[in-house]
Amino acid sequence: MTIRLFNTLSGQLDELVPSDGQALRMYACGPTVYDFGHIGNFRTFLQIDVLRRALLLTGTQVRHVMNITDVDDKIIRNAAAAGISIGEYTGPFEAAFLEDLESLGVQRPEQLARATEHIEKMVELIQKLAAVGAAYQAEDGSWYFRLAAFPEYGKLSKKDLSGMEDGARVDVDEYEKDSARDFALWKAAKPGEHSWDTAIGRGRPGWHIECSAMAMEYLGESFDLHAGGEDLTFPHHENEIAQSECVTHKPFARHWMHVRFLLVDGRKMSKSEGNFFTLRDLLLKGYKASAIRLSLISVPYRHQYNFTFDGLVEATAAIDRLRTFHQRLKQGNFAPGSNPALQDAAKKAQADYLAALSNDLNTAEARAPIFDLLRAANTAIDHGQLLADDRDAILTVLASFDAVFCVLEDRDAEPTRKALEYAEKSGRMADVAPELLARQALSDKMVEVMVAMRDQAKRQRNFSRADQIRNELTEKGIVLEDSKDGVRWKRK
Ligand SMILES: [Zn+2]
Repeated sequence: MTIRLFNTLSGQLDELVPSDGQALRMYACGPTVYDFGHIGNFRTFLQIDVLRRALLLTGTQVRHVMNITDVDDKIIRNAAAAGISIGEYTGPFEAAFLEDLESLGVQRPEQLARATEHIEKMVELIQKLAAVGAAYQAEDGSWYFRLAAFPEYGKLSKKDLSGMEDGARVDVDEYEKDSARDFALWKAAKPGEHSWDTAIGRGRPGWHIECSAMAMEYLGESFDLHAGGEDLTFPHHENEIAQSECVTHKPFARHWMHVRFLLVDGRKMSKSEGNFFTLRDLLLKGYKASAIRLSLISVPYRHQYNFTFDGLVEATAAIDRLRTFHQRLKQGNFAPGSNPALQDAAKKAQADYLAALSNDLNTAEARAPIFDLLRAANTAIDHGQLLADDRDAILTVLASFDAVFCVLEDRDAEPTRKALEYAEKSGRMADVAPELLARQALSDKMVEVMVAMRDQAKRQRNFSRADQIRNELTEKGIVLEDSKDGVRWKRK
């Protein structure tokens, strides 16, 4: 089965197959580590994780590279203001970013590439651009890309750049959306700024050149897929193409994937609007990492996603249903044999699930057959019509669902614990939801001790004591479920 994915460059759905017949070589633009990641950033990384996992599920190996931008204007400014080196400044944010990805179940790319560790490669690329007349040095020592050297400029974003002014320059990394200008490849050092002494002068790389140099370093001059948020299409990705193809005369990336922006309660997310959330903000409000993951991936990547707290509550309920069902299947005793109706339902669910995923990663349509199967199987269990072979067939479908969605196993305690640790360290305990603090007041160990005490009370037929313990746990948000194999507990 092959995944068909919308390609911004060709403007159509294209099949995604490794051109070398081995592994799909993909590059995804990573974070600039000057702050904590917000949910808009994480929607992009999660949707790229969906792609990665869907490729692996359908038997395609991947070689996935992600950059870490650990030098730019803001980083240099903030580090100088704090009186520390740029590494000291970015280190904790990089660690926080990687921890957040882990909390969200995002698989680590095969290669992380820090900009500051590839300065030499960027300098080499700028020298090659200068050799073909596509780069020039300005009076202050900075280097610029000459747009006029690349007539195909604009082919990704489909912008009409006919009114473009030759020689007009811009030296900041983010500029007005519709103006195409010669852009900075290398910025000459201003006095006192962090810089590198190189063959093209003392300074630091521009943002765009980082991605071109590092992508080609790890994936070759021409590779399969380049991904990022939709805001990167222009100018960042357009500039990456220009810088690379001017030197190689080969297509830089064949396939371009762009993840659409999210809204919060129907509005653009911004700090000034007060609707700006980092992952940590949501965890401290008491939402579970798995619910945040499910919520951020359940709307397909090319659709605008409207983040709401109601959506998180719904995702929490959906995950509860899935996990309860999964436990019911794993722990139940089912008679041998198989029920043809359920066997068919499992086959259909699996086929519909894979078909939806391979159709431009339609996660919304991929979810639906899984929940249909869950309802049919629960009804069958209630009527004693689910047999051992059916259980196995349905567990297989759930496993392939979870290979991409990654929410079935309850790993939520750890991200919450880490978020609380962060809140304590950074003086944010006042932002922690009281319900969350109350729940956390009982450590896992204490819960286990109380569950064991209740067990013992039951064995001694002291049912009022057993009920009393159960009620105490309920008040603390701990749900007990009696099953044939003993008592399971979870946090509500
Ligand atoms: Zn990039």
